[in-house]
Amino acid sequence: MFDDLRDLYQEVIFDHNRNPRNFRIIEDADRKVEGFNPLCGDRLTLYLKMAGNVITDASFQGSGCAISTASVSLMTEIVKGKTEQEADTLFKQFHEMTTGKDEHFNLEAVGKLAVLAGVREYPARVKCATLAWHTLDAALKNQQEAISTE
Ligand code: ZN
Repeated sequence: MFDDLRDLYQEVIFDHNRNPRNFRIIEDADRKVEGFNPLCGDRLTLYLKMAGNVITDASFQGSGCAISTASVSLMTEIVKGKTEQEADTLFKQFHEMTTGKDEHFNLEAVGKLAVLAGVREYPARVKCATLAWHTLDAALKNQQEAISTE
């Protein structure tokens, strides 16, 4: 990765960590799932508002490291207006980007989420980045129990 691109990515991550998007409770949420990453101590509660199979609103509460906060902030932005199927596709792409073996992963496919591609070089941080998405996956499957990355 080019250094200037890496700097840009880090700037986006810092920005989302400093000013998390959709950091609020949805009182009448249709889905609410708690996620926990014991390796790092990241905790979040994800809220989704659904209209049929479309995610009309997404928000979160909780506290975690910069990577986990930026990841869930970006995720709540990007899944808004998406169908469950589209969100599931993004989950799989995000998972492939952060944990897959493909060196030539197409970053354009994931849009803004590409800023987190660098975590694949830091195995200890991968779960910080994927916690939000595992929690979303549980919410889309309508699970009620809290999820843990361990
Ligand atoms: Zn973390």
